[in-house]
Amino acid sequence: MTTKAIRIHAHGGPEVLRWEDVPTPEPGRGEALVRHEAVGLNYIDVYFRTGLYKVPHLPATIGMEGAGVVVAVGEGVTEVAAGDRVAYAGGPVGAYATERVIAADRLVKLPAGIDFQTGAAMMLQGMTAQYLLRRTYRVQAGETILVHAAAGGVGLILCQWARHLGATVIGVVSTEAKADIARAHGAHHVIVGHEHLAAEVKRLTDGAMVPVVYDSVGKDTFGPSLDSLAPLGLMVSYGNASGPVPPVDVGILAAKGSLFLTRPTLATYTAKRSDLVAVANDLFGVVEAGAVKIRVNQTFPLAEAAAAHEALEARRTTGSTVLLP
Ligand code: NDP
Repeated sequence: MTTKAIRIHAHGGPEVLRWEDVPTPEPGRGEALVRHEAVGLNYIDVYFRTGLYKVPHLPATIGMEGAGVVVAVGEGVTEVAAGDRVAYAGGPVGAYATERVIAADRLVKLPAGIDFQTGAAMMLQGMTAQYLLRRTYRVQAGETILVHAAAGGVGLILCQWARHLGATVIGVVSTEAKADIARAHGAHHVIVGHEHLAAEVKRLTDGAMVPVVYDSVGKDTFGPSLDSLAPLGLMVSYGNASGPVPPVDVGILAAKGSLFLTRPTLATYTAKRSDLVAVANDLFGVVEAGAVKIRVNQTFPLAEAAAAHEALEARRTTGSTVLLP
């Protein structure tokens, strides 16, 4: 029996993504076989494709997120059963496939009101927004926060959720069209481009600056983000869309006002199953209540994942993107 998967045999551009037949895996102890109805596209998939992040071995099926139906479970599985509608996000890679096996304790059951495309779009980006806003820095009503790539997948969720919490959101985007999208999803103010970021933040906050910056852009925005923080502010550097941040002289944190710096990752915040379930349930809650709308603004056949990667890297996507097996 075979299944179809997008695999890479070498790191490189979108052209290394190949649509291939692979043997259908069998679930071992503690594992479940999931038939994907939808697969999530995330910027981390680009990092694994280029080699910025390491896959365990080549060839490799990349992809970190999916939603579908449990086909079979291995021995000792208690979390899910055959026939369950499920979703997941996080490692190990392997989601760009019509079927995959995954540790059953990484799966969560999808609520009846959430369809597969929404499930595949929201798990990685939405659970990331959850931990960023509720744990990395616990955003309070009345605070003003700064969100980079505000019209992107994580960005649109951050804007809506932060507004729902009562925060004032300043978004940063690269075009006026994206500014409109960010504004329509909760951003109170939007800055186009980061050339004068700190000056704009100063103007918008009457000189107070912000207590937290959520920066997923990395290399290009690290300095302007630090300059936008209030004394004792927290720099949350959680992604590298423009390239990784070069080594930092920690003295800069003192010079700019006793700042804090963190480089968090979803894996840490959902390592324990109890944390995974709590984060997912919090996300399902805001989505089912309508406070956060998951925008699947692009879909591609899974077989055309290369075109999806091209669009994502060329900054042509907004909101979330789903690959359809
Ligand atoms: P997005 O939909 O946000 O796409 C990336 C966006 O980054 C682009 O649309 C673009 O928005 C902006 N960007 C800025 N500079 C560049 C550049 N040089 N090249 C390409 N894009 C650029 O992707 P995701 O929502 O999937 O992910 C957002 C970020 O969050 C990524 O960096 C990802 O790695 C990170 N992430 C981190 C997690 C963690 O736990 N640490 C978990 C999930 C995501 P614009 O045109 O408006 O500038």
